[in-house]
Amino acid sequence: MNGLPCRYYDGRTSTPREAEMTITADGNLIVAIDGIENREVHSLADVRIPHRIADTPRHVRLPGGASCEVRDNHALDAMQVRTESGRQPVGRRFERLLHRLDSTWRGAAAALAVTAAILLSFTKWGTPAVARLVVAATPPELEAVIGENLMTLFLQLDVLTPTEVDEGRQAEILRAFYEMKDDTGVEAAVLGFFSSARFGPNAFALPGGTVVITDELVELADNDEEIIAVLAHELGHVAGRHVLRRIAERSSMLVLWTAFTGDVSVAALSVLGPDQLLDQRYSRVAEREADRFAFEYLLGADISPTRLGELLRRLEGTHGAGGVPNWLASHQGADERARNAAEAAERAGGAEAIE
Ligand SMILES: [Zn+2]
Repeated sequence: MNGLPCRYYDGRTSTPREAEMTITADGNLIVAIDGIENREVHSLADVRIPHRIADTPRHVRLPGGASCEVRDNHALDAMQVRTESGRQPVGRRFERLLHRLDSTWRGAAAALAVTAAILLSFTKWGTPAVARLVVAATPPELEAVIGENLMTLFLQLDVLTPTEVDEGRQAEILRAFYEMKDDTGVEAAVLGFFSSARFGPNAFALPGGTVVITDELVELADNDEEIIAVLAHELGHVAGRHVLRRIAERSSMLVLWTAFTGDVSVAALSVLGPDQLLDQRYSRVAEREADRFAFEYLLGADISPTRLGELLRRLEGTHGAGGVPNWLASHQGADERARNAAEAAERAGGAEAIE
């Protein structure tokens, strides 16, 4: 069988099996797992292939909780293109167009410069109200390009480096993340694991829905519920499109230019630095929104919202590495947020008692 090599996780144990997957012309995905005679056949309609994050491995999700980890992103893209050519949904066609624009850098820059110019004239007035307009006017596809550009920058600058979190552990966390995505309907979100000496124990969202969790944070967490609580909070930022709003609120032309074009050669980058590029000191309103989103999800999943507060308290002690503020813990005091979490937990407890 000439399939695409992958690692199969059955969704129950964390041990992977070597496998190969193929997509057939009639729209099925076939997985041949080493040592198992029967092949798994799934309709492509039931399979989720996540967006590409730079060149990190992707977990193709199968119905029933299993997944295939694919490292060869080019081959996976090619496989998708072959099957979809002819009659593809508009979303996918647009995605491919963006990808093409993105690979011909000049094309991307030209297309984006127009939008950037509009944005710049807006941000001259730089009020939150205008920022909201900008967010409303930016199509999700463009937001995704901005996110990819930032990610590329972080990788080029070695601010984010390949993760060392054990693959089984990644699969466990991913499973929880996908469950959360399904329950909350935040379709655009994807999760990436990266090590970051610079950002330390941190988690953050990029425009377009990529949520990054650092190895350092995975290590710092006492239990899975704390990790889920943090991811739920970040998902809240994705749902509210807070990152783009934050970028739009900044009046710095350089930040906008860099975010839109991914042009590292901008001389001022040496002044700007990655921390300014990803300044995630959201407004209190945004933090509260993200916390509320998280609390609601956590209560539904039978996890105490206090988990978020517990991790935040521990984070506040670390202050990130190298003096970089820890976005998760900063801006709104960990104390206040921990209190909010405790109150949310109490309210839920009270409601239960009344029922
Ligand atoms: Zn936040």
